Amino acid sequence: MRVGLVDIDGHNYPNLALMKLSAHFKATGHEVKLATPDNIKDFDCGFASKVFSFTLMPELPDWVEVGGSGINLKVALPDEVEHLCPDYDLYDLDYSLGFLTRGCIRNCGWCIVPEKEGPIQVHADITDFAKHRDVVLMDNNVLAHDHGIRQLEKIAGLGLRVDFNQGLDARLIDDATARLLAKVKWLTPIRLACDSQAMMPYIQKAVNLLRWYNATPRAYFVYVLVKDIPEAMERVRFLKGLNVDPFAQPYRDFRTNIEPTKEQKAFARWVNHKAIFKSVLWEDYRSQYIHMSKI
Ligand code: SF4
Repeated sequence: MRVGLVDIDGHNYPNLALMKLSAHFKATGHEVKLATPDNIKDFDCGFASKVFSFTLMPELPDWVEVGGSGINLKVALPDEVEHLCPDYDLYDLDYSLGFLTRGCIRNCGWCIVPEKEGPIQVHADITDFAKHRDVVLMDNNVLAHDHGIRQLEKIAGLGLRVDFNQGLDARLIDDATARLLAKVKWLTPIRLACDSQAMMPYIQKAVNLLRWYNATPRAYFVYVLVKDIPEAMERVRFLKGLNVDPFAQPYRDFRTNIEPTKEQKAFARWVNHKAIFKSVLWEDYRSQYIHMSKI
């Protein structure tokens, strides 16, 4: 049987669910390929996945099974497929991808994770899916579970290079955790999140501890959620003062899917374009945009 897999969000980010479906069908002797909405009719069966709510839904034959958090937060892969090692060849990846834990101990109002994944729980062992030296981990709060801590010790022992691309929870970085994180090899600078001003003291403490224990590279990367711009600016100035790298993300409510404003997008562009951020003040950048009628 020829199985077609449609990545509705495009191919900028590899789709983990499709890679697991690919592993499942290849293991049972089927031919599997990435397909498009245009050529899926040439396959015998098809699956499509949409992670983001803001990507457009294409027309697909009604026999194509569609899933993903951009469609329905509660639809999941069958357990036996969910825990397969992904087929990295589907996207020609030279790194591995997965989760050690799912869920989170917190309940931030802007976040999809509590509704989608629930409380934190064990998901997998790193050796279940790490087939390369470099591994991207998408855990939402790995430090909040003993299993996550044990897996970090294992990762350090195996000499893998990792990126926790959703960021680590600075509130959970104490002396022992910082020492452990310093033993890990990092694919990118350690990522933290400073989504409200209440996080600032925790970020300061975590950065001090990580630097004290020489967790390198030392210019950590910090996500900054942008709703109210003057409030976000306070956090960005604080982070610049700490000599870490802020990365602004304009707020998009996953329930209403309302687009961020042009000003929020311009602010994020200013923060994230490092050459501009270092040389141009926001006030000047903003007035240039107003002058060009872009806000
Ligand atoms: S800590 Fe992070 S993952 Fe957990 S609910 Fe808050 S934003 Fe979501």
